[in-house]
Amino acid sequence: MKTIDQDYIENKFIEYAKLNTRSEMESNTVPSTARQVVLLKKLEQELDNLGLKDVSYSDKDAYVVGRIPSNVTEKITPIGFVAHVDTADFNAENIKPQIHHHYDGTDIDLGHGYTLSTEEFPSLKKVIGHTLITTSGDTLLGADDKAGIAGLLGMAKYLNENSDIKHGDLWLAFGPDEEIGKGAARFDVERFPVEFTYTLDNGNPGDITYETFNAASARIKIKGTVVHPGEAYGLMVNANLIANEFINQLPSDFVPEKSKDYQGFILVLSNEGNVDHAQIDLIIRSFDTGDFKAKKELVKGIVTKLNAKYGKKRVTLEMHDQYHSPGDKIKKHPYVVNLAKHAYEKLGLPINYVPFRGGTDGDFITEKGIPTPNLFNGGANFHGRFEYVTVENMVLLTKTLLTIASLHVDLDKKRDNTPLRRK
Ligand SMILES: [Zn+2]
Repeated sequence: MKTIDQDYIENKFIEYAKLNTRSEMESNTVPSTARQVVLLKKLEQELDNLGLKDVSYSDKDAYVVGRIPSNVTEKITPIGFVAHVDTADFNAENIKPQIHHHYDGTDIDLGHGYTLSTEEFPSLKKVIGHTLITTSGDTLLGADDKAGIAGLLGMAKYLNENSDIKHGDLWLAFGPDEEIGKGAARFDVERFPVEFTYTLDNGNPGDITYETFNAASARIKIKGTVVHPGEAYGLMVNANLIANEFINQLPSDFVPEKSKDYQGFILVLSNEGNVDHAQIDLIIRSFDTGDFKAKKELVKGIVTKLNAKYGKKRVTLEMHDQYHSPGDKIKKHPYVVNLAKHAYEKLGLPINYVPFRGGTDGDFITEKGIPTPNLFNGGANFHGRFEYVTVENMVLLTKTLLTIASLHVDLDKKRDNTPLRRK
């Protein structure tokens, strides 16, 4: 591998980080905010500049896609990489990225009264000597996921200028609204003809995520019967008390405060009411499809029991799935993860299978038929003022992507389909 253009990656990151691309949950437009289109259009132009083919932006899904054409004569299965342009629900106005050359491992005064301290964030010790990029204390940085974008462009630039790395067709996609869980759900994958793809969203070098939560939300409504309390004997039915009865039947250990790693939970978000009516809102999270179904059945079962006890129509349930773990589908295509694992090994990275305790763009893209694990973008402390990334980690991402592209040429016809494990 020749030298990767580190300055280009750094400059692109800084340029894009300064743009406010915050998404907005309450909006119904595509994308949720017009300011995201500014960056999407810049990326469309950049892909053109870097010699990609079939570059296009669609108003319908607000994704920019493009293809780095294969430089080998044999037919290699096309693969893809995806990053998102929006940033989380935190101040993104006037972002001023601060560059700290040769970071020395000490605390950093961000400004606005905030300190990035090594005691609070020991991961800083891993980036001593790096070119560290932080916020100025009053905004987020947007390394989530502009570090992914910069690393990906680094690969495109390298392949445009060098021919030493052999690769098949590589498709790139940049999309909106990941942070509000809407972007990838709209992605028209007809525009993205790949067999599998990787998101480059969060995570440390060496992380691979192919399992996320399965998620559902439920609303339970309860109707009571109000009569004057003095004359209530045998007549009053108190909706508050039925709500409590419902909650008491939920498993007491299956709660967020007792749940980590591969454990899920049921979280009662709210429980409000009076004698006449009550309403409970809850969410269900589980890594395992079977357990996820069982927990939904459990909720249904409690509703059925309460209705039998108090009379048919007192308790109603609305429950719907929010997103699904890509785990079961990716396990059927273990090569997708094993290819990334071999690339990490080649670069001497540690290999960490990380269960993601939330949802990702990969959940939606996998559901559309394209297995999509997540790799990393090399930043940390996402979604707030303590966010940081280093140029070296973004360059490492570029190296990882180039290695995946090159290994895939060797392995495509003799795939490592060793079943996936969690450790
Ligand atoms: Zn992200």
